[in-house]
Amino acid sequence: MERVLLKNIDNRNSADISEYEKIGGYSSLRKALGIQPKDIIEEVKKSGLRGRGGAGFPTGMKWAFAAADPKFPKYLLCNADEGEPGTFKDRPILEKNPHLLIEGMVISAYALGAEYSYIYLRGEYPSAKDILNKAISQAVKKGYLGNNILGKGFKLHLSVHQGAGAYICGEETALIESLEGFRGQPRIKPPFPVNVGAWNMPTVINNVETLSNIPYILQAGGDVYSKIGSKDCPGPKLYCISGHVKRPGVYELPMGTILREIIYTHAGGIKGGKKLKAVIPGGISTPVLPADQIDCPMDFISMSKSGSMLGSGAIIVMDESVCMVKVLYRAMKFFEHESCGKCTPCREGTGWLSSIIGRIENGKGKKEDIELLSDVAGNISGKTFCPLGDGAATVSMSMIKHFRDEFEEHIKGGCKYKILHNVIPA
Ligand code: SF4
Repeated sequence: MERVLLKNIDNRNSADISEYEKIGGYSSLRKALGIQPKDIIEEVKKSGLRGRGGAGFPTGMKWAFAAADPKFPKYLLCNADEGEPGTFKDRPILEKNPHLLIEGMVISAYALGAEYSYIYLRGEYPSAKDILNKAISQAVKKGYLGNNILGKGFKLHLSVHQGAGAYICGEETALIESLEGFRGQPRIKPPFPVNVGAWNMPTVINNVETLSNIPYILQAGGDVYSKIGSKDCPGPKLYCISGHVKRPGVYELPMGTILREIIYTHAGGIKGGKKLKAVIPGGISTPVLPADQIDCPMDFISMSKSGSMLGSGAIIVMDESVCMVKVLYRAMKFFEHESCGKCTPCREGTGWLSSIIGRIENGKGKKEDIELLSDVAGNISGKTFCPLGDGAATVSMSMIKHFRDEFEEHIKGGCKYKILHNVIPA
């Protein structure tokens, strides 16, 4: 498959505007400014593009809701706050292909009628901030951003806003709160941001990867795009793979590539001659899959049928030496730390889960602890403001479902795995 999102990143100067223009960069924007905004939205609908941040909501439909709202001004926000452990798929776009993202944002803003837009950037990506700011200055100088873009009378101002490192600010309403200068905590929905978003105005929030697909959709057409990858979730997809594989990294492949193929063909298989034990397929909040359940297409719909989720497409691979109790303990410390504290089931529940798993891991577990874990997880699931609490509950329940024997062994007499490799990035 021809690269769409990672095109030209092997070029050392790929982030420079002149290199981007040499490969046809900003030609989709020229084309877009000659088309009616509503026709661009129709083209995006036709493409079948779904948001790449994790929820998989149809992008064209989201845009149509915001465009139809008569309130003004409207805002376009790019969610570049990828803080889920295991997730680093947007980083190559931010650092190596920033003009692809900027071009996608200008086209999207034109389609929506937005004149102000922000890239909400992960606090831990300082080099991306410098690269994006340089790219924005270059785009302003060349007339791709500013008060009269390419002389067509369309205006867009774009700024980078760096977060302070809170995972919850990747949730769209917490992101808005943080952008407005408040504590990053989710808002109750509805109303949804497409109608009541930043500064209470219609706001579209799209992920970096989602927006970076837009120039290609304009260039090739929605019909061509819709034929890449899975029928119901088309397009190219960035999968980032880490853990016990020979070639960890970010791979651009058609959406719906089989998980086994990603691990064994693209990432080179398990390193050190060991056997695969388990895979977390979409970032730490998605349900774990045991080694015999990896023949599933990696797209939003197929993964939910397979008992997990595509999430962000962040694949964490664990070999036979890994203790799953310790993995869950590490994951739960993360959720406990990152819970924003707004709702009780998550604030208290993640602490409970963490302390029960901790005592099991430390050889002090009680016979009834596995049932207690399931009970606490069940009392979080579906009862929280935002998906963080659900993620903590879901990953716990999936670990117990597939690796219950390891929890029981720990309670009986301790851990048979002496070594846990650092498979989950902190
Ligand atoms: Fe905050 Fe957790 Fe409630 Fe989300 S689920 S609002 S992170 S306390």
